[in-house]
Amino acid sequence: MKSVITTLLISFSIVFFASSMPLKKVADNIYMVKGHTGLPSKENRGFISNAYGILTSEGWIVVDSLSTPELAREFINELKKVGNKPIKYLVITHYHLDHYFGASEFKKEGAKIIGSEGLLKFYESGQADMYLEGIKKTFGDLFKNVKLVKPDIVVKDKKSLKIDGKEFLNIVMTLAHTNSDLVLYIPSEKIAFVGDLVFKDRIPFVGDSNSSSKNWLNVLKKLKNMDIKTLYNGHNEPLDKSAIDFTYEYIKFLRDEISKMKDEGLSYDEIKEKLQNVKWKKYPQFNVFHNKNIYKIYNDLDFEF
Ligand SMILES: [Zn+2]
Repeated sequence: MKSVITTLLISFSIVFFASSMPLKKVADNIYMVKGHTGLPSKENRGFISNAYGILTSEGWIVVDSLSTPELAREFINELKKVGNKPIKYLVITHYHLDHYFGASEFKKEGAKIIGSEGLLKFYESGQADMYLEGIKKTFGDLFKNVKLVKPDIVVKDKKSLKIDGKEFLNIVMTLAHTNSDLVLYIPSEKIAFVGDLVFKDRIPFVGDSNSSSKNWLNVLKKLKNMDIKTLYNGHNEPLDKSAIDFTYEYIKFLRDEISKMKDEGLSYDEIKEKLQNVKWKKYPQFNVFHNKNIYKIYNDLDFEF
């Protein structure tokens, strides 16, 4: 009886384990894992964002590293079950923990890390270390094995790679969500990997100290003018171009309203109060990000000309 229970428990945990990071095919040779919604916790193990693998004849191109080396390892194992090829490149869309902190595991695999000049500066200036220390203090053990890595290929403006006769274009799109935003665009497929620059039915995070809501709107206009059919981002299912409008509308609304109320002489607290009952409040992460977004935009407006 005992062994039956043990067997059951083992098979249950294998089933549970196998499905903890299911790899989903989203297009020809493109796979994704979909993170949970929310902040990092013991329960979600920091698996709070998406990551993507593109299978080519030369190996995998991965977009974003997930939050920890442990999660990155699981993701790599899943990819290798589909195609046992080396991880050729890891593209980091920006420096936030859920996109960058698993990178060391890809480095172990021999991958070249592609990041924007902003990511390199973040790494070299010591800001990255301070950020990691802060995260370790807040979330503890979850991040204890994180080792920050330097990008090997640093993109200043654009960097094109040709694989299997296709162009893989890395484009710096900053300032916006952070000062390190990078988009991977594959023109022949009309697809773009946009990190956290575009969301649909979820509140974007404008509160990073290095964000620029003003220029984020310009970046969204740029994306809108590109020949894109599908966008793959850090937190949603695959999106069509209408997602750009969703993100644009939310940021533009906040900027316009806050600016108008400031001109009318309203205090920060009054402005915040007036922006609570908005149509976006039903969307995920509203309670986490909305007030931070108001605060950042309220302060930025004083320094914009
Ligand atoms: Zn982010």
